[in-house]
Amino acid sequence: MLTNDQLSQWDRDNFFHPSTHLAQFARGEAPNRIVTGGEGVFIQDRDGNRLLDAFAGLYCVNVGYGRPEIAEAIAKQAHELAYYHSYVGHGTEASITLAKMIMDRAPAHMSKVYFGLSGSDANETNIKLIWYYNNILGRPEKKKIISRWRGYHGSGLMTGSLTGLELFHKKFDLPLAQVLHTEAPYYLRRQDPAMSEEAFSADCARKLEELILSEGPDTIAAFIGEPALGTGGLVPPPAGYWAAIQAVLEKYDILLVADEVVTGFGRLGSMFGSDHYGLKPDLITIAKGLTSAYAPLSGSIVSDRMWQVLMQGTDENGPIGHGWTYSAHPIGAAAGVANLNLVDSLGLVENAGQTGARFKALMQDAVGTHSHVAEVRGEGLLMAVEFAEDPAARIQFDPAQGMGAKVAAALLKRGVIARAMPQGDIIGFAPPLCITENECAFVVSAMKDAVSEVFGD
Ligand code: PLP
Repeated sequence: MLTNDQLSQWDRDNFFHPSTHLAQFARGEAPNRIVTGGEGVFIQDRDGNRLLDAFAGLYCVNVGYGRPEIAEAIAKQAHELAYYHSYVGHGTEASITLAKMIMDRAPAHMSKVYFGLSGSDANETNIKLIWYYNNILGRPEKKKIISRWRGYHGSGLMTGSLTGLELFHKKFDLPLAQVLHTEAPYYLRRQDPAMSEEAFSADCARKLEELILSEGPDTIAAFIGEPALGTGGLVPPPAGYWAAIQAVLEKYDILLVADEVVTGFGRLGSMFGSDHYGLKPDLITIAKGLTSAYAPLSGSIVSDRMWQVLMQGTDENGPIGHGWTYSAHPIGAAAGVANLNLVDSLGLVENAGQTGARFKALMQDAVGTHSHVAEVRGEGLLMAVEFAEDPAARIQFDPAQGMGAKVAAALLKRGVIARAMPQGDIIGFAPPLCITENECAFVVSAMKDAVSEVFGD
């Protein structure tokens, strides 16, 4: 076995890590962590640390680490048939079964699922399907896509454009011209502190309508949003938000994409965020919780109304010119089937709702009244604690102080992994959906100590 020092040096010499300060990492100024194993909500690293992963990797290991049922399903599939493609009508028992399991769980008006590998490629698929749809309907001008500031939809060319976070655009010549951004449904950061949640939601819808009218409704194809904002700050929507937005979309015949890469398969305490908040999407993006990240797999779930037009398109133009070599990869599909069975048998959707509510209440009690805590918010097992210099006066910390990152570091010292979200002093929690109330209490107690250490009171 290699020594830690050797591996660490190879890491810095050879490995281009995503979302990393490359220069600091290469110079050895930023730490690396070599992860060796995991069980339940815990991971281990090569330095002998056992850490409670309160962000489930990248909010994806929903059933928890070390599940033999999924490992065995993957091994069995690899022995039987590691790969065959899914072009021109080919499939495997695993991919066909998984498609049925997804459609059995999806909202009733959805029709079919297309498989990809990542949330980013599934959203890329969605945009292509939307453009195809409008071309088949004879509306070649109706192509622009609206997303929200602080939305996260991936980091490809189109999907990085849809993402409404500065870091994902800066120096990459993004966003592309077909993408527009509108107000984030971020009630805490509203301009007018006197505004009610409902009034704020109506204002978001008004701004969306203004944007549509200024661009021309005939040029706007779709609106994409996460049912609850994820990477942009873990923000549940304000009251009335989705009803107000959907009324505008309907008025101008604009498709809705619900990006459920994080919220799909239980995180909010419902099978889908669309059910949770009453969305009626034309496309649903799924990934992470589909396999709990035991193997890469994503999907675009297509509504019946879109499906009818896609079929018309192939009658008129021949087979759809879209596919990945690894679409519906048998190993990912086998992992997905075993994973969804576990989600059901362990009652994880219910646990996300119940334990999530308890987690938030404990967190609120522990740090909610701290002088630098602006808000404890969340839904199910998606929760954030946001800090501010002066919450009452709505004054943020200078980003250069990196207060969020300091709290995350203080938590790590106490054996808890949480995520300093990329824009704002926000600590995110999205643990595996199997987390227990005792484990939540441990996280909350570490958070209380971490907040005292960083803010000194
Ligand atoms: N959509 C949402 C809501 C996400 O949170 C993410 C990733 O975090 C993506 C899309 C992109 O998924 P991937 O990183 O698998 O490409």
